Amino acid sequence: MRNKFVNQQHDNSPIVIVGAGLTGISAAEALRAEGWKGEIVLLSQEKAMPYDRPPLSKEALREAVPPEKLLLRDRDFYDEQRIDLRLGVAADAIDVARKQVALSDGSSLAYQKLLLATGSRVRQVERFPHGAARVHYLRELDDSSRLRQEMAHVAGHVLVVGAGIIGLEVAAVAVQRGLKVTVIELGARPLARAASPALADFLSDAHARHGVDIRCGVRIIEANPAADGYEVRLSDETCLHADLVVVGAGVVPNSELARSAGIDTAPEGVRVDGRGRTNIADVYAAGEVAFHYNELHGAYRREETWQHAISHGGHVARCMLGADDAYAEPMSYWTDQYDYSVLVFGSPMGVRDVVRGDARSGSFIVFHVDEDGICGLTAVNAARELRKYKPLVSAHASVPDEVIRNVEEDLSHHYAARA
Ligand SMILES: Cc1cc2nc3c(=O)[nH]c(=O)nc-3n(C[C@H](O)[C@H](O)[C@H](O)COP(=O)(O)OP(=O)(O)OC[C@H]3O[C@@H](n4cnc5c(N)ncnc54)[C@H](O)[C@@H]3O)c2cc1C
Repeated sequence: MRNKFVNQQHDNSPIVIVGAGLTGISAAEALRAEGWKGEIVLLSQEKAMPYDRPPLSKEALREAVPPEKLLLRDRDFYDEQRIDLRLGVAADAIDVARKQVALSDGSSLAYQKLLLATGSRVRQVERFPHGAARVHYLRELDDSSRLRQEMAHVAGHVLVVGAGIIGLEVAAVAVQRGLKVTVIELGARPLARAASPALADFLSDAHARHGVDIRCGVRIIEANPAADGYEVRLSDETCLHADLVVVGAGVVPNSELARSAGIDTAPEGVRVDGRGRTNIADVYAAGEVAFHYNELHGAYRREETWQHAISHGGHVARCMLGADDAYAEPMSYWTDQYDYSVLVFGSPMGVRDVVRGDARSGSFIVFHVDEDGICGLTAVNAARELRKYKPLVSAHASVPDEVIRNVEEDLSHHYAARA
């Protein structure tokens, strides 16, 4: 096979970023902000101008949003920041010895430093192939507009496979559009990976009130394509006809490019230390593809959140220029379903949930408590309170449950920080 790589001088080579999602763009922006004067090449295998993903399962699914409104940065940004954005160009292979990337347009590119910001793709469920009629997955801009358009034309029953965040967001939009919605989940409860039992209960109730049928501990026994959808038999001994199937079964990190170049990967993604460094000199990874060391937890983890893409992309970019601090950010994400704006900060997986405020009012905050103290917060329509109480999480503060529950108490005067 012809060697795609040709000898090139490395001295003035650019920093090459593979992937123009939120991580790649945050990294490019941070490189400039930190004073990097050299070339930056930002490769995107997608043809669309880089866009934001969260609206794809929310406002852009409810109604058509002009594509410009979804852009991560406007077109001038790339010129002003001298970022060589190459749309529709994938990195096909990396030669780490020669420090070159082979591109899908047949050319190759030398790099001084390389950042892998390749993100994730949807996990496919074999019975429902991506691209099959009446089957939808949700990751890219076109996925969202295709689903929105089909929901507008198909009156009937939507089967959502997976009660994770994306599955529940889609269920909320679909039922509000007048469709009948059934959500099936293999696990014992919705949101088992991402949220506390308290939030799962609250959102399950909200979905039930809106008419969504969420069935947990249920799997598909049989699914046969029909002319107008799928005939599905479930393990709870029911059968249903689905006019549309939406699969929200999680994601798979895009780490094959790294793995085939000999870069250390784990099933969770590209393994990087607290500075975003892989095991290969001058090759870094950040964002959703990175199985990164987080000093706050003293452990490796992979995160699928918008805030992490910004923070980690920026942090690793600074480390590429010589910064030497380890990444130590708490998890932070949001989800919007019906009239509920949910914010999660820190770990939602304590040993118990303590609710402050009246959940029935639709505005409350859940304190997640582990053996040592408060490890996380979930706010439902209570953004201001969440901001106020973040220091309790940072301090891992120990506060008696009855004090947390008492809305008359100003908690900032009552916590005792962990020694
Ligand atoms: C529908 C949806 C809704 C979401 N909602 C929320 C939310 O409400 N709150 C929240 O906190 N988070 C949300 N998220 C998660 C958040 O948007 C992601 O975690 C974040 O966008 C990840 O950014 P990233 O740049 O690391 O990866 P990605 O966004 O996946 O970007 C990686 C890019 O790299 C490209 N790429 C991959 N391989 C190559 C290659 N070899 N060459 C060139 N390019 C390549 C990919 O095509 C992609 O464009 C949502 C995600 C989705 C999909």
